[in-house]
Amino acid sequence: MIRLGIDLGGTKTEIIALARDGGVALRRRISTPKDYDSLIRALAELVQGVETELGARGSVGMAIPGTESFASDLIKNANTTYLNGKPLRLDLEKILARPVRLANDANCFALSEASDGAAAGAGTVFGVIAGTGVGGGVVIDGKVLGGAHGIGGEWGHIPLPAATVEEVTMAPPCYCGKLGCLEVWCSGPGLAADFKRVTGRDASAERIAASNGTDERAAIGRLIDRFARAMATMVNILDPDVIVMGGGLSNIERLYSELPPLVEKYGFNLGGPPRIVKNMHGDSSGVRGAAWLWPETKT
Ligand SMILES: [Zn+2]
Repeated sequence: MIRLGIDLGGTKTEIIALARDGGVALRRRISTPKDYDSLIRALAELVQGVETELGARGSVGMAIPGTESFASDLIKNANTTYLNGKPLRLDLEKILARPVRLANDANCFALSEASDGAAAGAGTVFGVIAGTGVGGGVVIDGKVLGGAHGIGGEWGHIPLPAATVEEVTMAPPCYCGKLGCLEVWCSGPGLAADFKRVTGRDASAERIAASNGTDERAAIGRLIDRFARAMATMVNILDPDVIVMGGGLSNIERLYSELPPLVEKYGFNLGGPPRIVKNMHGDSSGVRGAAWLWPETKT
């Protein structure tokens, strides 16, 4: 049995066949179809195409930009909005004639890095994705912590901890309906909005991160301090062995030197800085983690 992983993205959908040694035996990428029925057909064709080419049947795991409700089997919280309210797993199981496992893309990221990435061998792993949004996933002893409602690890929508009076006063609204979520402070767009508020200037997160200017460096400093406050909250609850960073903002090298001592400072007497590392598999983590949703079988 081969293990197939699918990463359903907003614009691209990718499938891989994970080899026994952790390498990628085969990789295909398509544009994500624009409606649900076309998506189901395209996913079936992708799986059948890969299986025909490899001459083997596979287990199927999929990373989705949302959550499957345990109560209803319907997708919720997906930013590919046509998925919301749809029984995606059941429809795929019907067309592929086998069980399918779905997981949030941040959970797949954490699972991939915990399985054979930057956190390999660690017991408790907190995977953080910071890019266009802020997501997170928790893996304990090789298993994703889904939670009672499927939102385990979704720290992007906690309010910014230990907010200053200024941060409370100017708390930006979040698409989820609340004010001042971590996501609106610590995502790429959040960084750009913070820079604009303070300096009055427009700049993308990439440009701010790449610049050595005083204002830009100060903005990254504020980002790191906010991340540290939120991470300390997570560390007090989970006490992970490793925190792995992914997404576009994970390329900011200052994170890895400045975050650990700050998280220690804000945490509950940790007795040392936590281990915070950059991901190993980059953009492939979602699709690799999807394949890892199934155990390896011998047949
Ligand atoms: Zn929110």
